[in-house]
This record gives sequence, C-alpha cells and structure tokens, in this order.
Amino acid sequence: MSKLKIAELFYSIQGEGRYMGVPSVFLRTFGCNFKCAGFGMSRGEVSHEATDLAATHTMIRAFEKYEDLPLVSTGCDSYASWHPDFKDLSPMLETNAIVHRIMKILPHRRWEDEHLVITGGEPLLGWQRAYPDLLDHDSMHRLKEITFETNGTQPLSPEFKEYLLKWRAQREITFSVSAKLPGSGERWEEAICPEVVCEYERVGYTYLKLVVATEQDLADAEQAVLEYRTAGFTGPVYVMPVGGVERVYTLNNRTVAEMAMRKGWRYSDRLQVPLFKNEWGT
Ligand code: SF4
Repeated sequence: MSKLKIAELFYSIQGEGRYMGVPSVFLRTFGCNFKCAGFGMSRGEVSHEATDLAATHTMIRAFEKYEDLPLVSTGCDSYASWHPDFKDLSPMLETNAIVHRIMKILPHRRWEDEHLVITGGEPLLGWQRAYPDLLDHDSMHRLKEITFETNGTQPLSPEFKEYLLKWRAQREITFSVSAKLPGSGERWEEAICPEVVCEYERVGYTYLKLVVATEQDLADAEQAVLEYRTAGFTGPVYVMPVGGVERVYTLNNRTVAEMAMRKGWRYSDRLQVPLFKNEWGT
C-alpha cells in the first residue's frame, strides 16, 4: 500500500483556473522544490514571514495543527506544505486512509459532480508512484475529473505517464501549470521548463496560470509564453492576481483583469480570497 504525506485534505469550491466554481476535494501533498519568497515583495527582496514562523514553531512548537497557522501576506501562501520545520503537521497516510477521509467529506459520501484537485507544495515532486494506488481504489472509480496543480518543473515518470494515459480514456485530466515568473523569487532557468509542460499537454488538458502584479511581471509573462509557444505548447494562458490575503488581492485584481484583456489571455480570479478569506481548508 502506497503512502502520501498530506498537508491538507478538504472540500471547497475551486477558486482558480478552468474549474473555478466547481465543488472540489483538495488533496495538498507535502514538499516543494521551490520557496517563492519573492511574492508580494519588491524585486530582489525576499519575504521572511514563513521562516520567522518556522523558527517560532521549532523553538516552542507553536502550532498544534495545520489550521492553527497564520496566513501570510508575502511569499508562498501555502508555506507549511513544504517548509521542513512544519513537516510534523503533515501526516504520512496510506492511500486507503486518504480515500476513507475523502469519502467522509464528500456531501453524498461518493463522487458525483465533484472534481479532485491534487495540489501542493509540488504534487508531482515525490508522489507520482503513489497516485495509481489512490486512484485505483474502488471508491474512486466514479471520479471523472482530476487536476494536478503544479509549478510545471517536474517531468512525468514513464510509468506514471502510461498510467495517466489509460486513466484518461474515459475521464478528464487537467494540468494547471502555475509557472513561477521572476517575481516569485525563483530563477528563470529552473522555473520555466517548456519541454516538461509540452509533455503534460500530451497527457491531459494543460494551461498556464501566471501570477502577475506589475508591468514587469507582465513582460516576464510574455517572454515565458513565447518560450512555451516556441516549444510547441498550445494551451490557454491565464493571468491571476497576486494575493493570498484580501488586502493584497483587491489591490491588483482589476489591474490584472485589464492586463488579460490587453493580451487576449484569460483572467483567473482567486475566489477563495473574497469568498473565504483564503482560510486553511478553502
Ligand atoms: S511552487 Fe507553489 S507551493 Fe511551491 S513554494 Fe512556490 S507557490 Fe509555494
């Protein structure tokens, strides 16, 4: 039986991208290859919110549960899903136990029109071998739509790719690729991986979802899209406002919608921010 280290498992409305508004189960795996400490900061500066919280947690075990953690307004808004100092808050669970929990949070105790979002952290980093066990469980057979929310840097293993190609024969797989532009604080050469994303597109419906706040971010987004297109990527492009907290989000959501119109790209909201204040479990 495979195991997955799970930061969060919850039922909510998908707030972003293609499935915005669709009732969804979110499975947030632990671990990421990035830190994205530049979000919400001036270029070249990094946020210390997550590292300060981590230091406090290490010293006095300040937080008992994932839901006790404060929201941050800069840096990665799901910092506890990868920061090693918070790994004690994310249990390692067998796929059977995860499926049991999923069935308990679905409103009809079985899949109907809901969709499954496997997110992170970076869900394609270390767990590809475990997903077939999860998806092949008897209770998961009615599931029809799944999205991997990924940063677009992790190639699919040949075995997992083969599995997904079979899985999608009667179902829908989506890769929502939130590629990290320089405003995230990550390096271009490591974050923009067009060949990886083109490979996803051969397996499922794939789109780019780029977080922008400034004209410089928009220029970076244009350059990134050019590189993806040059490599053969044909999927849609969404731009999404920065902001895991409402105060930041409302500063730039309209500006980003106008940027999207100018470029002929799609606008993605972050419905979880105005609807639920982006609290854990939403
Ligand atoms: S890739 Fe996503 S989960 Fe990982 S650090 Fe960046 S924003 Fe956070």
